[in-house]
Formats: sequence, C-alpha cells, structure tokens
Amino acid sequence: MPELPEIEITARLLGQGVAGRTVDSVAAPGLNTVKTFRPPVQVLEAHDLTGIRRRGKVLIVDSDSGFSVLMHLMSAGRLQLFGKRASPSDRKSRLLFRLDSGEELRLREFGTHQRAWARVLETEHVERDEYLTGLGPEAWPDPPEIGPLLDSPRPLYTALRDRKVIAGIGRAWVDEILWTARLSPFKRGADLSGEEAGALRAAIVERLGGAIDHYEKTLSLPLPDKLPLPLQVHRNEGGACPRCGTTIEAVHYSDYVMCYCPREQTGGKSLRDRRLSKLLK
Ligand SMILES: [Zn+2]
Repeated sequence: MPELPEIEITARLLGQGVAGRTVDSVAAPGLNTVKTFRPPVQVLEAHDLTGIRRRGKVLIVDSDSGFSVLMHLMSAGRLQLFGKRASPSDRKSRLLFRLDSGEELRLREFGTHQRAWARVLETEHVERDEYLTGLGPEAWPDPPEIGPLLDSPRPLYTALRDRKVIAGIGRAWVDEILWTARLSPFKRGADLSGEEAGALRAAIVERLGGAIDHYEKTLSLPLPDKLPLPLQVHRNEGGACPRCGTTIEAVHYSDYVMCYCPREQTGGKSLRDRRLSKLLK
C-alpha cells in the first residue's frame, strides 16, 4: 500500500514528467474506477496537464481544462508513465491518459479486485471533495502537536493510521514511526506524556521526510512497480533491531503484519496476537 512518502514522490516525478503534455485521449478500461459521471473523464482531452499533487494518500492530476482528476490507489494501485500505450489485453489497466508525446499516464491495479478509484472534479472545488474534507491534518511536513490530536483511549497503532486523525500514515510507516519514537503500538493516545508526544511528532517528520529524501536520491522515471521502501523494522520479523540488536517480533493479522522491538517498545513483553487484536478493535 503506497503511503504518504510513496504518493509524494509519485506526484513529484510524474508531475514533472507530464506537465505541459496535451491529453490526446482518455480511456477507462476499469469500468468501476471513475466514480463520477458528469463530466466524463474525457473532458481532459485536448487540454494540457499542468501537474500532479498530493493530499493525504490521494493524487490529484490537474489540467488546464478547469477539471482535475482525484485518484486513490488503494492497496494495489500504481500510477505510472509509460513510453507507449498499454496493450488492450492488459487487465491491470484502469485509467489511461494518452499524451501527445506518445507516452501514457496509466493507473494500473495489481490483483483481481478493482478498488482504486478516481473522481473528476472542478479544479477550483477539489478541496470540497468529501474524501478530502474528511482528512485530518497532513502528517508531513508540518503536523500539529500530537498530544491533543491523539488524546483518546485508542491505541497509537490504530489512531495514527486513521486518516481522519492524521493523513498519510499506513501499515508500513506506522511500524517505523513507533519504533523510531520507542513507543508501544498499543499505548493509548491519552496516556502519552508531553515528552513522548514530542518524540512521536519528531519521528513522524523524520521518517516520512527521510523516506521522501531517499526516494529523491534513488528514484527517477519510469517508476518501478514496487518502490524500495527504506524500512528498519516493518517486514523485518526475526531480524535484529538495527538499534539494540534484539530480535524484532511481529503480530500477524489476516492480511498484514505489525513489527516492533520488544526491548525498546513494549518493556520486553511480546504482544500476543489475540490480546492485541482485541485491543485494536
Ligand atoms: Zn531495539
């Protein structure tokens, strides 16, 4: 699942790649991908793309037609720029913008489900979109004070991934942020001390910003299907904690895994799956 840093670098690199290109035609092979009907996405045809920006985990493709396209990649979508058109038999294709350069800006989705979505909106009213108005403050570059934001009985692991609380953090970066701040995933937001809240805010800025810096140095177009996330603990179950050498432990859920350092985050305690899943409900 692409999170804030991955969406940010996607917006930056693709935005530079497509700005000034004219849209020759738009096709939507993903029949359920575009959720708005008026105007159709073809309203962008014969107009120039002006850039791509990010809000939370949403990409916004702007054009000089007066309309923009919001896209949420969900867990398995990718937005990429290809040198030539997709084969009509490519079942991953969801939304295709064919450009005058011969290139194609392509929303693809891996797996069998169609969950990625797009909406065509007037550019000047994009911020009124119900998804965007429902977002909490951006996690990066300058999140607000974390203490008041998370002041509830919810565990940090849940609250930090709630886009209505703070926008942009998902399952990979929450593991990294909590490890950096040396905080237990199931510590309750209301129980954070002032010092812990400060460390958590600093960890959010450091890790998300650090990932974006890493991508700026290592990535260029064309974007690979899988971005190389600079992770320390997430996906590192059984490995050594890069800071203290303790074996990283994990809690397994049906479709993802939460990783943490038991020595530095949970006072030496292993989180039992059932206990945690109950707490995180
Ligand atoms: Zn450790």
